[in-house]
Amino acid sequence: MLVDGFGRGLVAAEGLIAHGRGEAFDYLIGERTTKTAQGAIKAAAAMLLLSKKPVISVNGNIAALCPGPVVELAKVTGAALEVNLFYRTEERERAIKADLVKYGANNVLGVGSQASATIPELQSERRRVDPKGIYRADTVFVPMEDGDRAEALVKMGKSVITIDLNPLSRTAKAAQITIVDNVVRAIPAMVKTSLEIKSSRSLKKIVDDFDNKKNLRESLKIIKEAV
Ligand code: ATP
Ligand code: MG
Repeated sequence: MLVDGFGRGLVAAEGLIAHGRGEAFDYLIGERTTKTAQGAIKAAAAMLLLSKKPVISVNGNIAALCPGPVVELAKVTGAALEVNLFYRTEERERAIKADLVKYGANNVLGVGSQASATIPELQSERRRVDPKGIYRADTVFVPMEDGDRAEALVKMGKSVITIDLNPLSRTAKAAQITIVDNVVRAIPAMVKTSLEIKSSRSLKKIVDDFDNKKNLRESLKIIKEAV
């Protein structure tokens, strides 16, 4: 799917390498959604449902791997979709937006001159975000994010949710909620869980009871005990 996405101009060459890094960790957790990851998925769904201005950040790998589920998740949780690339080119932004629209997205932020705001502390093109999206969001869901950017978003006061197969990455440690799972399994699971808990009255309790450090330690334990 990534090679196909690369051929269609959605994925950057660097995205292929990042995916390989993820696959190595996926092998170690047994290529399944663990109970630990399911706990983080529930907390993430609750946080998105509780947020006033949630935004889902879409990069090339996400567009190649799970465009349908990401659009569905935006609809179920009321989140906005923003194209946000580490290696930004307007051509790739437009290709990703067109694909999301094909999958039913009605508004896609962050493309071209729309990304006119900047994240403090970051250099060059990596700091550009949409003033109507990530810049003013209370919660940012960044499945597969670089450590520098995740840390900068936390410093801006955002609640940050991520999916990262590497429980030791800087992104995994910086986020408030880290789902240690493959995006292809985790995003559809977030859609399902969001639908299940949507009208629950204990959403805040689900978020408050979640301990990210403890959850990351449990994922590491699963990896250690796989041998
Ligand atoms: P960091 O910058 O957070 O310290 P990094 O530099 O290793 O980590 P990046 O390339 O910045 O990583 O981000 C990609 C991250 O996404 C990696 O941690 C990788 O393990 C993870 N990853 C890659 N493919 C997937 C996938 N399909 N599902 C979930 N996570 C993935
Ligand atoms: Mg990095």
